[in-house]
Amino acid sequence: MTNEIATSGKAREILKQVFGYDDFRSQQRQIVEQLCNGQDALVLMPTGGGKSLCYQIPSLVREGVGIIISPLIALMQDQVDTLQQLGIAAAYLNSSLTGQEVQQVIQQLHRGELQMLYIAPERLMMPQTLALLSQIEVALFAIDEAHCVSQWGHDFRPEYIQLSVLHERFPHIPRIALTATADMATRQEIIERLSLQHATLFNSGFDRPNIRYSISENSGNARDQLLRFIQNEHRDEAGIVYCLSRKRVDELASWLCHKGLNALPYHARLGTEQRRTHQQRFLREDGIIMVATIAFGMGIDKPDVRFVAHLNLPKSLEAYYQETGRAGRDGQPADAWMLYGLQDVIVLRQMQQQSEASERYKRVEQHKLSAMLGFCEITSCRRQALLSYFGDHLDAPCGNCDTCLDPPKTWDATTAAQKALSCVHRTGQRFGVNHLVDVLMGKESERITRFGHHKVSTYAIGKELNTQEWRHLFRQLISRGLLSVDIEGHGAIKLNEAARPILKGETLQLRKLKKPAKGSRKRDKGSVEAFATPEENALWERLREYRKELADQQGVPPFVIFHDSTLREMVISRPSTLLSMGQITGVGAKKLERYGADFIEIITTAHGSG
Ligand code: ADP
Ligand code: ZN
Repeated sequence: MTNEIATSGKAREILKQVFGYDDFRSQQRQIVEQLCNGQDALVLMPTGGGKSLCYQIPSLVREGVGIIISPLIALMQDQVDTLQQLGIAAAYLNSSLTGQEVQQVIQQLHRGELQMLYIAPERLMMPQTLALLSQIEVALFAIDEAHCVSQWGHDFRPEYIQLSVLHERFPHIPRIALTATADMATRQEIIERLSLQHATLFNSGFDRPNIRYSISENSGNARDQLLRFIQNEHRDEAGIVYCLSRKRVDELASWLCHKGLNALPYHARLGTEQRRTHQQRFLREDGIIMVATIAFGMGIDKPDVRFVAHLNLPKSLEAYYQETGRAGRDGQPADAWMLYGLQDVIVLRQMQQQSEASERYKRVEQHKLSAMLGFCEITSCRRQALLSYFGDHLDAPCGNCDTCLDPPKTWDATTAAQKALSCVHRTGQRFGVNHLVDVLMGKESERITRFGHHKVSTYAIGKELNTQEWRHLFRQLISRGLLSVDIEGHGAIKLNEAARPILKGETLQLRKLKKPAKGSRKRDKGSVEAFATPEENALWERLREYRKELADQQGVPPFVIFHDSTLREMVISRPSTLLSMGQITGVGAKKLERYGADFIEIITTAHGSG
């Protein structure tokens, strides 16, 4: 017991001294204690929840080296740099090292000089590595991205399955498995494959409260809407914009640059070297906007991505959650902003119908797309809906999504829907949305005359709505599965069985088309708070410049030196002594010693002159 109290005191001291944090977050304390006491843990925590501390602190508390297994080789360098900045002896072993560098790390291990070692699973499984580990003292094994053991998931890694060997060969060394993406089935697979039957489960849920979700209709000029959003709410901030095609990525990136923003393209067609450079610049420079296909993102753990924008619909809520999750890892306010329109719905539905996959797979995919579309159209809290999709429960509406902040209006769309549906029927289920809308609105066109559609009973019966409103309605009818888009790919709209009740008079309530917001929204919870005075802004810029200088000198990303949130706290509380500087969140002993005086000097000079 006394031992446990001592451990817990030591963990807290390390939290403050080394990391510069005052308190543990959510379940971190319990998880840390569990490992310090030599027991296993399975940790489900959302991105940005603070998983790393859960194994980093026990690695420091316990004797020996903490072994961290991760499939994300590209991240290891940054992770090790981050730890070294804190004065921790850390290293990594993966295929990017030369033979000589590997030997150096092995010697350090033998001499007991390392506190943490990041290692790729294939390297760990080599017989000589396992032999080495049995000769030295190991504090714990941390298995990061543990969902990679799942054969059914997207990130399956065969070497992960062999990790059960750790339990057999090192039964007395505590293990912790961590992931941000585990539904019930995956969770079970992790437990079985890694022999974690005796591990305590720590489940922090899926919520990312600092992310503000909003979805609007694509009113036909998506890039202007995007530009306005970035200029009004995220000027000079880092963000990711996802598009479906490479062509769109290239065009949009250059258009944004043309508009004076700092945007870079990223997709599979760019050469390896160029992709690497763009990724590096995104990590190392301030305020870069990455315009990308979904090829970009896995293993990006830049903490200060302030927005993720989607100009196309992701194909499932899982994808949406994962992609938007790259925003706001630092816990500061961030936006998940999406536009979607009729064309998205048509393209995705067609892609699915044309897919060569098995019927069973197609049905699953269709179900997932319908959930995604339903999510776009809901009139209640988005966060509640998103979490409930993942089996989480949120008691009250969140107050930080578009439907909470600006509740959408609904309208009785029964009559309009009946008109639309019967127009599809009367014209023989052979025409696309544009033509159907023309018929409803009584347009005069060559096509209409050619097919004799000015004579059908639904001609010109829909003048109460404008073109955009009709398109909006058709999109909703397709989203809800009342209408479908034909398989041949010409975009002809067909009636589904589900349309029958509406035609028979069942009422239909739909979400009203929103007027695009004009001007700048006031800066509140959705974006990081603006500073109160020009002096504060100037100081913020000075601190960021100096941080960039330091980062460049050392060849690390700026967030490895200090996070934005740490600089922000400096601007607001203006520490002028080492003691008060040491109180700032994110300033541990080592960073205080290295950088404290210089940052104080910048702060006090600015104070004097401002
Ligand atoms: P995850 O791996 O779960 O995505 P990280 O471990 O990278 O998350 O942590 C996310 C961010 O939160 C990091 O910048 C980290 O420094 C910060 N953080 C973690 N725990 C705490 C804490 N107890 N107090 C303050 N900041 C924390
Ligand atoms: Zn909400």
